[in-house]
Amino acid sequence: MSTSQTLAMAAKTRELKAEGKDIIGLSLGEPDFNTPDFIKEAAIQAINDNYNSYTPVDGYVELKDAIIHKFKRDNGLTYDRSQVVVSTGAKQSLANVAMVMLNPGDEVILPCPYWVSYAEIVKLAEGVPVEVPTSVESDFKMTPQQLEAAITPKTRMLWYSSPSNPSGMVYSRDELRALADVLVKHPDIIVVSDEIYEHINFVGEHASMAQFEDMYDRVVTVNGVSKAFAMTGWRIGYIGAPAEIARACNKMQGQITSGANCIAQRAVITALEAPVSKIQYMIDRFKSRRKLIIDLMSEIPGFAITEPEGAFYVFPDVSYFFGKTINGYEIKDATDFSMFLLEKALVATVTGDAFGSPNCIRFSYAASETEIEEAMKRIKNALSE
Ligand code: PMP
Ligand code: GLU
Repeated sequence: MSTSQTLAMAAKTRELKAEGKDIIGLSLGEPDFNTPDFIKEAAIQAINDNYNSYTPVDGYVELKDAIIHKFKRDNGLTYDRSQVVVSTGAKQSLANVAMVMLNPGDEVILPCPYWVSYAEIVKLAEGVPVEVPTSVESDFKMTPQQLEAAITPKTRMLWYSSPSNPSGMVYSRDELRALADVLVKHPDIIVVSDEIYEHINFVGEHASMAQFEDMYDRVVTVNGVSKAFAMTGWRIGYIGAPAEIARACNKMQGQITSGANCIAQRAVITALEAPVSKIQYMIDRFKSRRKLIIDLMSEIPGFAITEPEGAFYVFPDVSYFFGKTINGYEIKDATDFSMFLLEKALVATVTGDAFGSPNCIRFSYAASETEIEEAMKRIKNALSE
């Protein structure tokens, strides 16, 4: 199993900064906003109300009810308490699902680019990641034909995120329906729909695979508060799933971590019960930063860009630079290019290799406007040399 490249790059950035280097960190997918005050206040209240004991393994009932209400309100999805499990981040939700679902050798289809941890979590559960390549030309979307071609008798699951980390692509309802039409012919395949960027969507309505009646019983909907609520360090994620999968995740979690942090759970009740309008100011800022970074990046020759439709990443194809030597620095692949940007432009990014797309690199624009402007200026200068 390899180290998380996103976290490794974040650690390297911290290290270089500590050495006094003026690095602009566009590597980690982490909102630069503070957690909203109304959520912080709920956490302080929870401490004062002496929420300090172990919680139910699958989460406080009040939180599960808030999640059930959120699924209904935002997604039109009906889940009951037996179908919801709260975990220590969506990352644990995903790991739980992999561990309870996969037998050794079971295949999991991962449209590329996929989020960095999917392949490693699948491998940890002794499953086999099956990568389905997409590219800038196909707007990073897997087609129904590609899905059909990737299915074998060993296929157990399909995992994807929409809005996507790292490409920013968003599947429309029609596109999801076309994928579902393939899946209905293969009733043993379970879908993991990672919707953690749901609210950070610039093109329209968010669509969920579980909204299709003929798919509902086979979909695990993963979500969490890290991104839209600026709560990465609070570590709360959750699933809505068929009851038997939720029950198995509950059992797994009960032997590994127990219930998620009690204070964070109480705060998330308040976060999820609030209208989405309370966090709209952050989404609006991401939208204007998207325009800023795309406009500036478009001026840099050699970057092939697909305009991201959601999340807070841009994933340009930089293969134009492969085989070239820039200022004495030989660029063989995206990892070299990402290291070149770190060393010569002092801008941290993540290589596309980590996401199964070795022609690309990922920029997170969850950073201030000043940082984005300065980063693009530095990259332009470093390349013009
Ligand atoms: N899924 C995707 C697509 C992500 O980008 C992240 C970011 N960390 C996660 C899941 C995990 O989120 P967390 O564990 O912070 O809830
Ligand atoms: N999801 C974020 C990212 O992709 C956070 C880092 C991580 O959890 O890997 O950068």
